[in-house]
Amino acid sequence: MADYDPGNIFAKILRGEIPSHRVYEDDAVIAFMDVMPQGIGHTLVVPKAPSRNILDADPATLGPLFAAAQKLAAAVKKAFNADGVTLMQFNESASGQTVYHLHVHVIPRFDGVPLKPHSGQMEKPEVLAENAGKIRAALRN
Ligand code: 5GP
Repeated sequence: MADYDPGNIFAKILRGEIPSHRVYEDDAVIAFMDVMPQGIGHTLVVPKAPSRNILDADPATLGPLFAAAQKLAAAVKKAFNADGVTLMQFNESASGQTVYHLHVHVIPRFDGVPLKPHSGQMEKPEVLAENAGKIRAALRN
């Protein structure tokens, strides 16, 4: 497996070098909107600690990461009045991973509505901003 590359896009987002629609931050984790959402409210939960994926992650990273993913799952369900929530996490290209900094996908789900393709169409920034606002509001309440 390749080494962690600090030039990956999520490392740049973590360092504030490129913008994101951020919805959550704590000591260990940030969460922001996926720019090519597979459904309304598709959020990415990203640990601040560097690793390519779960295969090289420090186990100490995983507790805070999944605690945050749980918070985000509840928040997106509430924000979009969803019927359920899908969490996904990919490891290496054979599994579908495209960005090599560990992350968990949190996607609100609605009865009978399939997911859109992975890394499909870019969403409009104003839509991402509006959806981020709904998730932040759900996290406050
Ligand atoms: P992976 O395939 O690595 O599990 O998922 C990477 C995700 O990151 C994809 O769902 C893709 O849409 C998303 N993504 C790719 N580039 C960017 C970006 O620059 N900003 C944000 N917010 N999401 C991105």
